[in-house]
Amino acid sequence: MNLPEEFLNRMKERLGTDFPAFLRSYETPPCRGLRVNALKIGAEEFARRAPFPLGARIDREPLGFYVGEEKAGSDPYHFAGLYYLQEPSAMSVNEYAASCKKARVLDLCAAPGGKTTSVAAQMNGEGILISNEIDGGRAKILSQNVERMGIKNCAVVSATPAQLAARFPAYFDTVLVDAPCSGEGMFKKEPAAIPHWSPQNVKLCAARQREILGHAAEMLCAGGRLIYSTCTFAEEEDETQIEEFLKAHPEFERISAHKSYPHEEKGEGHFRALLCKTKGETRTAKPYPVRRNAQAIRAFSAFAESFLNSPPVGEITTLADGRMYLTPAGMPALDVRTLRLGTELGEFDGKVFKPAHALAMSLKRDDCARFVSLSREASERYLRGETLETKIPDGWCVVGVEEFPLGLGKCVGGTVKNHCPKALRKR
Ligand code: SAM
Repeated sequence: MNLPEEFLNRMKERLGTDFPAFLRSYETPPCRGLRVNALKIGAEEFARRAPFPLGARIDREPLGFYVGEEKAGSDPYHFAGLYYLQEPSAMSVNEYAASCKKARVLDLCAAPGGKTTSVAAQMNGEGILISNEIDGGRAKILSQNVERMGIKNCAVVSATPAQLAARFPAYFDTVLVDAPCSGEGMFKKEPAAIPHWSPQNVKLCAARQREILGHAAEMLCAGGRLIYSTCTFAEEEDETQIEEFLKAHPEFERISAHKSYPHEEKGEGHFRALLCKTKGETRTAKPYPVRRNAQAIRAFSAFAESFLNSPPVGEITTLADGRMYLTPAGMPALDVRTLRLGTELGEFDGKVFKPAHALAMSLKRDDCARFVSLSREASERYLRGETLETKIPDGWCVVGVEEFPLGLGKCVGGTVKNHCPKALRKR
């Protein structure tokens, strides 16, 4: 691997006698991991069913397993959201998120969703999670992952940290900043990033992180927690960044910080820090302005009567374009570009309610009155867009791999018409 000389010199200076071991870590293939989605299945149960060999458990993440080169990303269980593929060291941030339950949480730099999907599993549907991604294209991928993992209490938005800080001063209990960084820990996994590394870029990243952290600080309430992480080794972006932040923000104190290197822990390396805002205000925000559309709700209720075993609990909002969402309790007004708001139920066109893929992904087998359970082989066919046979009477159904939803189908005269969104199908 052709690593920049200046990078190597910096690492040599930092690591001293450990440098040769660090260098040797580049001789092995990148570490891969998966984190079981506790919203859908337990780690032990997944380990029993895993269709490919799982490696050892990952330290600090009870839901994490090392995996090899297998095509874990194209397995029907992946489409069903039973796990998320995540670099093992990045999972170590999750232990800082244990306080997120029932809280108001902002993931400020969230795409593609590794930390968001982990925090959401810890929250288990309670509290409010706002997952933000500044880049519109990456925000769409984040939104798809939130949907696939069946997360119900999350709004996916796309805004700058400054825009969010103006709307949510002193509001959040936890803000997660998994910062854009110079990515020194990603060189093995993404060698294409190597030529972009330079000391100037490290400085630019540090300046950007300082700005993001400043806005994160504004949005935390008294007693709130700031979780900061990077996948780089540069001190300017890690230890020094935190020291300077604490000098500039005396209302914060450090609870913990840790840097993992690939020659010391089995993973590509990560930095994480947990800070607490000890002083400051706590403010509320305007509640989300739920739009109640009686006609749309009637249409949904009529649909839900035969489709669900029990009706969903909560406020249903119907947007101007007809999309209907089950709004998580306590959701604030967002007033920024919003890609997803809680569970998307479907769409009302003025006459008919049509269910959304997200609704199917948010359900458990026992929630569904009309469920078509497929073998793993038949699931592959569903995921390729094929039509299947069924004995279920005509109407909408949830199609699943075994008992885990994969998407929607419409039964017509003994066949299931495939309603898996084209963009999400297997190629
Ligand atoms: N947390 C994500 C996960 O676990 O999957 C990874 C986040 S990645 C390290 C950093 C993200 O920050 C990128 O998606 C990037 O688009 C976003 N970003 C870039 N510039 C930003 C800025 N100025 N403010 C906020 N986010 C930014």
